[in-house]
Amino acid sequence: MSNKIAADPSCVDPFEAGLISVAEALRRIEDRITPVVACERLPIRECLDRVNNEAVKSPHSVPPAPNSAMDGFAVAIDSLPADSITELEEIGTAYAGKPFEGECKHGQCVRIMTGALIPAGTDAVVMQEQAQVTEAGRIRIDGDHRVGENIRLAGEDVRQGDTVIEAGARLSPADLGVLASLGIAQLQVKRKPVVAFFSTGDELMPVGEPLQPGKIYDSNRYSLHGMLSRMAVDIIDLGVVRDDPGSMREALSQAASQADLIISTGGVSVGEADYIKPALEELGTTEFWKIAIKPGRPLTFGQIGASIFMGLPGNPVAVMVTFSQFVVPAIEVMAGAAMRRPALFRARALDALRKKPGRTEFQRGIANLDDDGQWQVAKTGKQGSGILTSMSRANCFIVLPDSNEGVEPGDMVDIQFFDWSR
Ligand code: AMP
Ligand code: MG
Repeated sequence: MSNKIAADPSCVDPFEAGLISVAEALRRIEDRITPVVACERLPIRECLDRVNNEAVKSPHSVPPAPNSAMDGFAVAIDSLPADSITELEEIGTAYAGKPFEGECKHGQCVRIMTGALIPAGTDAVVMQEQAQVTEAGRIRIDGDHRVGENIRLAGEDVRQGDTVIEAGARLSPADLGVLASLGIAQLQVKRKPVVAFFSTGDELMPVGEPLQPGKIYDSNRYSLHGMLSRMAVDIIDLGVVRDDPGSMREALSQAASQADLIISTGGVSVGEADYIKPALEELGTTEFWKIAIKPGRPLTFGQIGASIFMGLPGNPVAVMVTFSQFVVPAIEVMAGAAMRRPALFRARALDALRKKPGRTEFQRGIANLDDDGQWQVAKTGKQGSGILTSMSRANCFIVLPDSNEGVEPGDMVDIQFFDWSR
């Protein structure tokens, strides 16, 4: 008889049955989440990062009328014979917001400022640096200019009736500017999803109290608070829930009455699922997924009443990995936006990275540009899923696909910067 303790086969078999891929988990999330429907009309400043409800069509063209792109002289090209230098009479000035009212005739020009309307009778702006003012106050210009020079056309940014912001778009700072350029003061956006979250574990203590033997501080609620605060959601922190079915039931039903999305951390180790499972099954429908990733393999996904439930692992790094890979996309869909995939960049690995095939690994990296402007990435030391400083030192995940069997220094790897959703 072997005197070895039998290892949990799920920990050693990389091709364990029942594992689903990252892509499959995302597909299921997208299928099962219904976007919020309710909207609110807000001043555009308050619409930053919110999801636009209806396509915005432009009520007028931007710019509304042709205007100058430079400080200089508005001229008729007909007044400037090619291959010679002409002296023109300056008959006035056109300012931005204060147009020149007269008409420019042959042999005349109008001094013009950037943004000023193009005066009648002119069809080009010669920049100030290409003109000379004579002692007599006449304007000398050569013949090397063309019609339309330095003129911004009406509608060259936006034409009246064009869709400028699609339904379902998240509003960026530039979008706020575009809305303002169209004179739109308020916009209808989807309401924010409400997200409630709690930690589970009898070992957890709140910060601010001396640490008791056998206990640890609850860090997950703080990293979750940080990640959620950067998203356009309303958050409810439900604190720590003790490891018993009654407390779990109570927390879940309270959360379900207030939130669109409920996130828990912990309680997924063998044995612990014994108290989470019955509570979940009593209150709603749930599935326990094992996703082929490291860290963060177990994820509970389900529904309690109208709320979606996502049970993340307990290990602090696994919480951040599963949040960034699954909760962020889930919130995107819930908010009414399109589910986006994080952008990956290619980087040269500076360190050897250990990796077994069978799962996608999210190792923590520090990426920066080398002297040739190429990304290079170092690892942040120990990669255990409880080593949270590996996350705080990092600025990216090094994403190693299922098939990868380890990395040597100099190999090219994919990296995913944190905060990819912003
Ligand atoms: P569990 O899935 O509950 O067994 O948790 C896995 C590991 O993560 C255990 O070592 C827990 O002590 C730890 N853990 C769970 N929740 C937290 C938390 N909120 N803060 C810090 N560590 C936690
Ligand atoms: Mg626990």
